[in-house]
Amino acid sequence: MDGSTSPMLRSLLSPQGLEALETLARAPALFAFDFDGTLAPIRPRPDDVHVSATIASRLDKLARMRPVAIVTGRRIDDVRERLGFTPAWIIGNHGAEDEGDPEAAARARHALDALRERLREREDGLAGAGVLVEDKGQSLALHFRTAPDRDAASAMIEDALAGFTHALHVFGGKLVWNAVAADAPDKAVAVQRLIARAGVQAAFFAGDDVNDEPVFAAAQHQWVTVRIGCERRASAARFCIAGPHEMAGVLDRILALVG
Ligand SMILES: [Mg+2]
Repeated sequence: MDGSTSPMLRSLLSPQGLEALETLARAPALFAFDFDGTLAPIRPRPDDVHVSATIASRLDKLARMRPVAIVTGRRIDDVRERLGFTPAWIIGNHGAEDEGDPEAAARARHALDALRERLREREDGLAGAGVLVEDKGQSLALHFRTAPDRDAASAMIEDALAGFTHALHVFGGKLVWNAVAADAPDKAVAVQRLIARAGVQAAFFAGDDVNDEPVFAAAQHQWVTVRIGCERRASAARFCIAGPHEMAGVLDRILALVG
């Protein structure tokens, strides 16, 4: 292999995937989901993204039988109203916002103050390049999805973040750069904590983006981890599905197993 490609992920709907799902569903397990690009397709305007009634009704059923969590890059308050059901827990800001740990959440917010100031100083230049700065409290997101020249916008973002990459954890996503406190919990830590909170040993976790990879990489062998998107791209997930449009079918399988 030349290093630029990675093996195809196996579909969760393959015989091996369904067998792993069946094994997991027999044990008490946490069912955790990313939001954007996982439970609903990504849209040009993040505000337009909501879980469909089809998915919400299935998640509502599952949440009555098993512990269900949402682990998202969005703020908790932002995502809550987009779900259409009530999960046991919501973890926001890529793992850094946990209602069960308000002191850590406050620390994670203040760790970003110096970068906040830098971004305020450069507000006009960033806006002029089509960069949308979103202050989510425990994370700062610099979106360039709608920038007319994405390369120029990306370069301007990199320049604004220069000098902060050691003090903060800076990571890319789908046409966005994110910054969080260097010591803030990531999604992998968040899922481990939820497993302890739920009093279970294993987890199902589905996600589509770079910040979901630590969860996949930290998973135990009996977990079922699912990357949304089966294209050739390096991923530590065990399985994949083609897109959020396959999620209703996956939830039907899970409900048939746990019901
Ligand atoms: Mg996502």
